[in-house]
Formats: sequence, C-alpha cells, structure tokens
Amino acid sequence: MHGLPKIELHCHLDGSLRVATVLDIARKEGIELPTYHLTELKHALIAPEECTSLADYLQCFALPNAVMQSKESLKRITFELFEDAAKENVKYLEVRFGPQLHTMKGLTLEEVIQSVIDGLKLAEARYEIKGNIILSCLRSMSVESAFEVVESGKSFLGKGVVAIDLCAIEEDGFCTRFVEPIALAREYGYHVTIHAGETGSSQNVLDAVDMLGAERIGHGVFIKDDPIVYQRVKEQQIVLEMCPTSNVQTKAVLNYQEHPFYLFHQDGIKVTMNTDNRTVSHTTMTNEWEIMEQLFTVDKQMYQMIYETSVQAAFATQAIKEWCLSQYPPTIH
Ligand SMILES: [Zn+2]
Repeated sequence: MHGLPKIELHCHLDGSLRVATVLDIARKEGIELPTYHLTELKHALIAPEECTSLADYLQCFALPNAVMQSKESLKRITFELFEDAAKENVKYLEVRFGPQLHTMKGLTLEEVIQSVIDGLKLAEARYEIKGNIILSCLRSMSVESAFEVVESGKSFLGKGVVAIDLCAIEEDGFCTRFVEPIALAREYGYHVTIHAGETGSSQNVLDAVDMLGAERIGHGVFIKDDPIVYQRVKEQQIVLEMCPTSNVQTKAVLNYQEHPFYLFHQDGIKVTMNTDNRTVSHTTMTNEWEIMEQLFTVDKQMYQMIYETSVQAAFATQAIKEWCLSQYPPTIH
C-alpha cells in the first residue's frame, strides 16, 4: 500500500501536526504545554481509540492550535504535513483548516491563509506532490464568522484556496443557518464540501447537497441507515470523503468491520479514502488502506477505481487531475 499513489481530499491541518514539532514550537515561542515529554505529549495529542463522542474527539485540537499562532509555525506545519504525505506517495492533498482558530496572537485571517499557502508552495517545490486548501467554517461559531471566512479567502481563490467547508459539532438541521454564507461562497467561485452524516443525521447529507450545493460530503456514514438518502446519494453519485479510523474513534461506527466504506463501494456509491487527522487519529493513508485490506477484499481494480474517483472529485485544475491520473498505474520502485 505504501508504494501506491494516493489522493487525499479530507485532512485537517490542526489534527495533523508532528508531535516533535508541537514540542519544538512551544519551546521556541514560550508556549505552556501540559508536558514536555515526547511520549506523554503524543498521548495528549492522539484521541483515544474509542472516544465517547465527536465532542470528546474534538478536545484533542486545543493543544495543537496553541502552537499554530504565528506565520512561521503555520508555514512549517503545513510544509511538514505535505512532506509526510509525499513520503507515502500521496500525489495530491487537500488540506483544510479554520482560519479563525489561528488569530489568537494577532494574525489576520489573510495572514493565516497566506502562511498556509506558503507552506504548501514550499512542499510543492520540493516534492512530487500537489495540493490545495479548503477553508473550514466552524458550526460552533456564528454565521457572521462564516461570512468572514468566505470574504477572507476570496482573494486567494485560484491561488491555493479552492473550497469552503462546514465542520465541528453536527446538529440536526444545521444547514439552514448557513445557507447565506455558503451561497455567497459559491457566487465567489468556491467549491463546497460539507461535513454531514458524521454523527447521526442522514438528512443533513441531503440538506448539504440541496440547500448548500455541496459537491462532496465529509463522512456521510449515516446514510447507511436511511434508504431514501442512500438512494439519492447513489443516484446523484455524490462523492463521500470517508475516514474509517476517525469514525471508529468518534463512535460513528462500532468498529472497522462495521464501517460502510467497502459495502458502499461494492454497491456503487462514490467513496474516497482519507485520514481526517493524521495525528489525532494516529493514522496515515497507508494505514487506512491496510486496515481495509485486512478486513475486506481490496483488489487492484477497487483501489484504482477509488483513486480515479478521488481525482475526479478533487477541486483541482484539469492539468493537475491529468497529472494525477498519469501517476497510475504506478511505476515500480
Ligand atoms: Zn473532518
């Protein structure tokens, strides 16, 4: 699995920091950490294998955000994420983050976004990897703050920023609140992907598509229990960004065996494989695929089909998509 080319469309920057980097930045910037011992810090950054809920899982993001408050650290953390991805043959990576989480020490939203783009460009220059950025609006924040994110990223569209996202705690019917900011985002030219059907409500998936114009859905696990929504997702070929380990941790599914990734694919639903959070979920793309491979029959045809689905669903230019497709079938190293 490690050697195969990969595409990742759902990865949160603040969930994917190297533990040593958290320690290093905290020391340099005088940031207080609960522990300065690498192994202990690792435990504080990785969510337990089974959290009690998504809320529990989200607790693990407070600590990383403390060291993501300067231009240098944002650039470094982004670069390192792309570096880690490139080393396991990820060819294209879309990274998402909430700009407002990184303004605690005075950075403007624009400076936050520019710093992340700087890290991305540096990695693209050094490694055989391409990428883009998705701006996340937190549903726990106000609708006004979603408008701010949309406005702050406008001038970066086509220069690294490609899409808008809604994430964090998922309540039934959340889409209604965000119709206007997401409509404005679409008008500006953002693509739209929405976290939905991650913690219970399958109706949220349809709402995200119908009310917000979502082109892709983050997770969508819960469509499995709703035949009507399931059928729509299947018929409309709505692409799901699935993240098995994260779903096991947040109790969206009981265990990997119960995860619908494989069954969805077998039944013609468009699925893609993602890590969600490399550090908080203590995983990689290679690991996610190896877990699936151990439990189900993952053959070359399935892998290639999902690779191609991921490329087609990427918010990338046609030229980048063609380059990604040219990476498959892989050359033997
Ligand atoms: Zn996510």
